[in-house]
Amino acid sequence: MAEQGVDVCLLSVGPDLPWLTGYEAMPLERLTMLVVPRDAHATLVVPELERPRVRPRDDIFAIRSWGETEDPIAIVANLIGTASQAAIGERTWARFLVELQNARPDLVFETTASVIGPLRAVKDQSEVQALRRAADAVDRIAAQLQAGDIPLIGRTEAEVSADIGRRILAEGHHRVNFAIVAAGENAASPHHEPGSRVIQPNEVVLCDFGGTMADDDGVGYCSDITRCVVTGSPSSRMTEVYEVLQFAEAAGRAAGGPGVPAEDVDSATRTIIDAAGFGQWFMHRTGHGIGVEEHEDPYIVLGNSLPLQVGNAYSVEPGIYLPDEFGFRLEDILVVTETGSESITNANRSLLSVEA
Ligand code: ZN
Ligand code: ZN
Repeated sequence: MAEQGVDVCLLSVGPDLPWLTGYEAMPLERLTMLVVPRDAHATLVVPELERPRVRPRDDIFAIRSWGETEDPIAIVANLIGTASQAAIGERTWARFLVELQNARPDLVFETTASVIGPLRAVKDQSEVQALRRAADAVDRIAAQLQAGDIPLIGRTEAEVSADIGRRILAEGHHRVNFAIVAAGENAASPHHEPGSRVIQPNEVVLCDFGGTMADDDGVGYCSDITRCVVTGSPSSRMTEVYEVLQFAEAAGRAAGGPGVPAEDVDSATRTIIDAAGFGQWFMHRTGHGIGVEEHEDPYIVLGNSLPLQVGNAYSVEPGIYLPDEFGFRLEDILVVTETGSESITNANRSLLSVEA
């Protein structure tokens, strides 16, 4: 905060608060806000009826609960004191920011991205452990998919998505974040919403799924993986396209390491897909950071020249999406080590045929 010239951080809903304290604010109309002055003890302003959910951490923050007839904005404004530069979590509801601006028109706001973003992007050992536990869990589900343990043919995408969601919880996550299941031509839509389409023989089924798994302190870390299978025999066109993608993804995984600009990892996958003539069908960035949020810094995208650092965790997930035909994406999560980048998801990366 001193480096950034920030006098006070204000954290409400969103990942910064649980990352710092282990307490996650309810996304409600009643304000929860941790006020963190640069030079004084932090205070958690929390609705009285939610106080029982707070595990007291006197070493980290004091608790100021507020009753139904009190004005929490006034309480926060009072705690802000004479500060002139505030950093507020970017997921904070606009309503609360506007009310704070009205209460303290002199206060200048920025987001906590400049203060907490760089801290969250570098994972310590316990965070890497938590990410590994979550990655191992989705690796096992991917292996179940590839082994034919998850029935596909004759089920709808939505049914398979619900099945994968149950497995995400059964493998120890406390929350399902997403379970994209896209069959056939639907796989050409990167963020397809699983629906009523029934999965047929001999088609691509793209599965991209992940959840959040609480660590020992109650802070949740995310998993994220994509694998594609074919319900029968892949066509020669599928095989040709997938080979390009698999080669590109491997190049992306090999490209990372300390000091490597994030955009170089993007270039590593894109160059190969471009050279094979599929460049226009790879329309998204190569990856994203991952931690307490499923998408966070560092983003693996052209234009992000920031060098990767030891402890960064990020996805490599190139895709090739052929409209009205099919699509493929292959996604792994990597952690930057002293010598390179290590993939912490490791399910088979080949295009497997499944009898399911
Ligand atoms: Zn991802
Ligand atoms: Zn994903």
